[in-house]
Formats: sequence, C-alpha cells, structure tokens
Amino acid sequence: MITFDIVIVGGGIVGVSSAYYLARKGYRVALLDQYDIPNEWSSSGDHAQIFRYTYGKDVFYTELAARSLVLWKEFQKEVREDLYLGAGVMDLADGDKSYPEACLKSLTQMKLSGQKIESAEMKERFRILSPRAARRAVFHPDGGILWAQRAVAAYTRASARRRAVISPSTRVAAVVRSKEGISQIRDGRGRVWKGNTYLFATGPWTKELFPKERLPLAVTRQQLLYFRPPMNQGRFRPGHCPVVINMARGYYVLPVHIHGFMKIGTYRKGPKAKPGQGSKEITPQFERACRDFLKEVIPDLYGFTESEGRICHHTHTPDGDFILDRLPRCPNAFVATGFSGNSFSFGPWVGSALTEWISTGKTELNLSRFRASRFKR
Ligand SMILES: Cc1cc2nc3c(=O)[nH]c(=O)nc-3n(C[C@H](O)[C@H](O)[C@H](O)COP(=O)(O)OP(=O)(O)OC[C@H]3O[C@@H](n4cnc5c(N)ncnc54)[C@H](O)[C@@H]3O)c2cc1C
Repeated sequence: MITFDIVIVGGGIVGVSSAYYLARKGYRVALLDQYDIPNEWSSSGDHAQIFRYTYGKDVFYTELAARSLVLWKEFQKEVREDLYLGAGVMDLADGDKSYPEACLKSLTQMKLSGQKIESAEMKERFRILSPRAARRAVFHPDGGILWAQRAVAAYTRASARRRAVISPSTRVAAVVRSKEGISQIRDGRGRVWKGNTYLFATGPWTKELFPKERLPLAVTRQQLLYFRPPMNQGRFRPGHCPVVINMARGYYVLPVHIHGFMKIGTYRKGPKAKPGQGSKEITPQFERACRDFLKEVIPDLYGFTESEGRICHHTHTPDGDFILDRLPRCPNAFVATGFSGNSFSFGPWVGSALTEWISTGKTELNLSRFRASRFKR
C-alpha cells in the first residue's frame, strides 16, 4: 500500500489548487473526489465566477484578492489558458453609499486601481444601465470573470503532470483516527488511502463528513439564472459591459460569457439544504425577482426569452470568514471550508497558503481569523 505525503479529499478549487502547489513542491499527493473533477455538484462547478477586489471596509479580503490575482495570472501563463478575464467590476450605490465608499477606501489603501463614478458619467460610459440604476458607483478595471470549470480542470492536469494521483468517483466513507491523529481514510469501495498528512477541502459536505467536530457550517441552496440578452448582444459582451453588482440589493450580473448567455445571481442566503441532492429547478419567484432587478438596472435585458436555471450550494460560517485550520485533535489533518459565496477568487491563494502551512508549519499572513477554535471562544 502506498503512503502518500498528502491525501486531499475534495476536487473543488481549494483541493485542486492545493494539490498543484503541494505537487509543485515535490510532495507525493493523492486527490480524491466522490464525483468527476470538475463536477456540477460542487460549489466550484459553474462555468464562470466573479473576481473582485471590493469587500467593503474589510481590506484584508482586498489584500487576499490582490495576492490571488497575481497567482491566477502566474498559473494561466504557465498553462497557457485563459482563466481570468479583466472585464471590470462596477459596484452600484443607490441609497446607502457606505459600501461603495468603503470599497474605494480599501482600493486606495491597497494602491489598487479604482474610481468613483457619478451618475452623469455612468450614463455616458455605461449606456446599458438605466439612468435610475444608481446615483453613483465604484468601478475597478481589474475585477472580472474567472473561468471556474476550466480552472479546476487546468489545476488538476497540472497536478497530474507533477505525478499527483487523481482519483475521481472516490467517495470518502470513513476517516480512521488514532492517538496521533488520522491513520487512514477508507473510500466507498473499501479501499484504504494512507497519508502522512490529510487535507479535507470538502466544501458543503464537510459537516456530514465530520459530525462530531460540530463545525458551525450552514449549507444553503443558491439559485442562478443564465439568460440570453433579447437584443443588441454585442453591448453586453466584456469590454462593453462590466460585471455589475448591487450589494445593497444582493444581485450580481455577469456579461455575456458562455454560448451567448449572461448570468444573474444573488448573495442573499437561500434556504438550508443538503449538497448534491434535491431539485435543480429554480423557482418562478426567483426568475421574477431577477427580471424586476434587470428592469430597474439594465432594462434591455429583462425581457429575455431564453434562459436556464442552475443550483449551487454556499457553505457559511457564523461570521462569514472561512475555516482554514487543523482538524481538532488531529495534528496531521487540515480542514478548509466555509467559503460562502465569494471564494473561488481566493482559490490559488488558499492552495498556496495551505502548502506553506503544511510544508513549513507556519504562514506568512496571520490566519488566526480563520481558526475553527474562534467559534468556541
Ligand atoms: C451560486 C454561487 C455563486 C458563487 N459565485 C462566486 C463568485 O462569483 N466568485 C467567487 O469567488 N466565488 C463564488 N462562489 C463561491 C465559490 O464557488 C466557493 O467558495 C468555492 O467554489 C468553494 O470551493 P471548495 O473547493 O471549498 O468546495 P467545492 O467546490 O464544493 O468542492 C468540494 C468537493 O469535495 C468533494 N467531496 C465532498 N465530500 C466528499 C467525500 N466524502 N469524498 C470525496 N469527495 C468529497 C465534492 O464532491 C466537491 O467536488 C459562488 C458559490 C455559489 C454556490
């Protein structure tokens, strides 16, 4: 039986980027996932996701995003694939201007490019927007789109080129412990996987894999809508149409990016749910709400006739921060989860930070805000 240096469970963006950075350091890595890698059930399984620098006054996340973009660009150069598209992100401010103002302050503090746009200039520069869309906005050109499925596949191939063992359709059914920590894991076919270290990047399934740890994770069912612009498609392509976010109302819209379709979604928490199960249908109420938002903000879009709904799952912690930590009472095991609805962007940084932690026992950045023990306190 082979004993790997690291056995990683979970082939979402966190698992595959960790496999890549660990294999690049010469570790013998095994990467397991219960489904394919990438797969449509994972939170990382969508076509495209938003990359942004703007997290309100929380400049720590703006810094993480800046570090992540450097790694995204480095990796896409290595694999010669387009994984990031700098389409620009526009944070709209209608009533409460505190959030966009805080975003601008964080961008300035981090010396990142961004600007405040008043409604007159918005009308001039972004004619797709309704004149009543917002009184002002903050625009940052480095925000944009990440090709999610393509990125997960690229990290998996790059890890395999560095001799990582990739094992899709391998569901971890049992985690066996000893006094020293985890001694082995067994999959649904009874096969045993042994590692010196284990990393669980199991996203919305983490709570069911570790019921005894009582990690404060809430999984919610999130609806998305892909739709084809009913007219003037060219105006809604990247370069003409940025990613539009109205955080106060909780909606975000991606420009045309896959087969002529755009995407609209919400940051609002959906109902609690179990990952990987249940209907894939979106509700007529959600579609109605999306149309109403578009009617007010990007009126040429609300009359779309072609659309397709999609379901995905967020994994939330009580304070909205991730969990990046050793598994309680298991010095040889790490858990990375609780990435809610905006952490695909941080994937490369999380993978490289976990690699630094596993290989040196410490990290450059102080990650105490991500410790699981913070909830006990
Ligand atoms: C609707 C929606 C929109 C989002 N939009 C954005 C966005 O615009 N920008 C952004 O940055 N982020 C966004 N996110 C968040 C982002 O998708 C997630 O934070 C990120 O994908 C989490 O990755 P992960 O690797 O932790 O988990 P996942 O991608 O869920 O991967 C976990 C993997 O673990 C596997 N697994 C679980 N249990 C087992 C087991 N027992 N055995 C074997 N394998 C197992 C699963 O099959 C799965 O493939 C969005 C998320 C959703 C749901």
